[in-house]
Amino acid sequence: MAFELPQLPYAKDALEPHIDAKTMEIHHGKHHSGYTTKLNGALEGSGKESDTIETILENLDMNNAALRNNGGGYYNHCLFWEVMSPNGGGTPSGALAQAIDTAYGSFEDFKTAFSNAAATQFGSGWAWLCVQKGGKVEVCSSANQDNPLMPGVGCGGTPILGLDVWEHAYYLNYQNRRPDYINAFFNVINWDKVSALYEQNK
Ligand code: MN
Repeated sequence: MAFELPQLPYAKDALEPHIDAKTMEIHHGKHHSGYTTKLNGALEGSGKESDTIETILENLDMNNAALRNNGGGYYNHCLFWEVMSPNGGGTPSGALAQAIDTAYGSFEDFKTAFSNAAATQFGSGWAWLCVQKGGKVEVCSSANQDNPLMPGVGCGGTPILGLDVWEHAYYLNYQNRRPDYINAFFNVINWDKVSALYEQNK
């Protein structure tokens, strides 16, 4: 059973002005679609066709560039669309808020740590908030389409929030101003979804 490109959970202009419709159209319809097609190609004849994407990534041979790049690209963008919402922004609540405070002292200090991880990831990559078994949260970043499910990447644990800092994610609207894009992302974070992922994976 082949992986399928998921539908966006909102209209492609729904995140404006923070993320523009043209970027969403190309990012989802071309980039994520491309990763999905190439992931299916890389899985043909591998014996992993029936595995979940999480199982594939957790057991990845990091020397398998096609599966690493396209499996990562498929998973990362699936998460990315889900953790944004036109009704997003604000701050988390409940157990996730407590875990963030425990790890970073305050939401503002977490925001600084996450923003720094996103801003200082050289070239293409992602910033993450991950949860480890037991409920501890941690910020990290990774290069290209790697993610913390893969062996030896980033902070380990399960990603519950991801920010794409490839230029294709922001260049049309923000050109080289990655920090402005990072700041805008905080206006669309779907904290209800991130909290649900925290509860499922802690
Ligand atoms: Mn992307």
